[in-house]
Amino acid sequence: MKLSKKVQALAPSATLAAAAKAKALKAQGIDVLSLTVGEPDFATPKNIQQAAITAIESGKASFYTQSAGIPELRQAVVDYIEENYHLTYSVNQTIITDGAKFALYLLFQTVLDETDEVIIPVPYWVSYSEQVKLAGGIPIFAMTEEENGFKVKVSDLEKVRSPKTKAIIINSPSNPTGMIYSADELREIGEWAVAHDILIVADDIYGRLVYGENTFTSMAMLSEAIRENTIVINGVSKTYAMTGWRIGFAVGNEAIIQGMIKIASQSTSNPTAVSQYAALEALTGDQSPVENMRQVFEERLNRLYPLLQAIPGFKVQKPQACFYFFVNVSETLKLCGYQEATSFVEDLLNEAHVALVTGAGFGMDQYVRISYATDWETIEKSVQRMKAFVEKKAQI
Ligand code: PMP
Ligand code: GLU
Repeated sequence: MKLSKKVQALAPSATLAAAAKAKALKAQGIDVLSLTVGEPDFATPKNIQQAAITAIESGKASFYTQSAGIPELRQAVVDYIEENYHLTYSVNQTIITDGAKFALYLLFQTVLDETDEVIIPVPYWVSYSEQVKLAGGIPIFAMTEEENGFKVKVSDLEKVRSPKTKAIIINSPSNPTGMIYSADELREIGEWAVAHDILIVADDIYGRLVYGENTFTSMAMLSEAIRENTIVINGVSKTYAMTGWRIGFAVGNEAIIQGMIKIASQSTSNPTAVSQYAALEALTGDQSPVENMRQVFEERLNRLYPLLQAIPGFKVQKPQACFYFFVNVSETLKLCGYQEATSFVEDLLNEAHVALVTGAGFGMDQYVRISYATDWETIEKSVQRMKAFVEKKAQI
């Protein structure tokens, strides 16, 4: 059977592939430590679990829901955005999706025609480029500078803008870098996008996982014109430790949202009912678990930062948000005799049994991504193994 050209051209998700590889080795009895996938290691808070149980027992989770999501949850999203963004949307400007990932998928399917271009700042989350391609679009990569926290500037965007540019993706806080754009930086990009009629995709999924003095601003908050030109993508996975429940949402231009709902009605029908009731409790119930989990991540970040700096050749910027370090390992690669990070990561897994994600999946092959969304013991042991591995390879 010949597979479609689309599928042949598609790369599997590098983050999920790295996590799966680590799991497969573990299943063979190998003591693998995984700092791969970005998902909170906490159980979903009890009140959310209980809301799901109640929904099942009452029978209301047994049935299809509206393709756009249950009205109560759409209203909860409106209220959530009102409270956290100070912006008012109507329920018709919202859609509940099977994770933020599927919100992005629906969005690209809705707005892109063949050969439309989408600007993606590098480094980028692994799924953006592949989802754009699946929708027939062309990912156009805009380079950034490490010295500027890997944040794209209008001058970088102008280098890649063309008459075909349809959209730009801004992911702040960023996976993989953990960096946050300031309001001024976002405003400059937002005004540029409005001036050139370029849709802004604001992936705000890490907006509540922000550390120290740093604060989160969404692109949609900067001016009315920018907001009208922006689709906000968000969800409950990271904030509420709900990755497995698969609930995300999108908010913005009604015609675009209605297009997304139409595709949802012909593909998944609706996000899983029980998960929607759980997400409703997440958004409307007790918010204290969010802060408790955030504090644990922040502690890990502060403890891990000096340990990573002590590994030979690691050039580490301290992230402001998320639960990732994106480390420039070009010096380490040289010391250890590698050309690029993918083979380094492979040997690290096979020889030292520590799993990371190669930067190549994020568009930068001299980098590795290290997730600290796991318990401290695993993190500490992984760092010891990584350091010993590098020292052995580099004969230090
Ligand atoms: N955007 C970014 C930047 C992410 O890292 C993720 C990770 N899962 C998602 C979107 C999608 O999240 P989910 O589908 O679990 O809501
Ligand atoms: N977004 C997380 C990560 O980057 C989860 C896996 C995925 O969906 O890519 O690791």
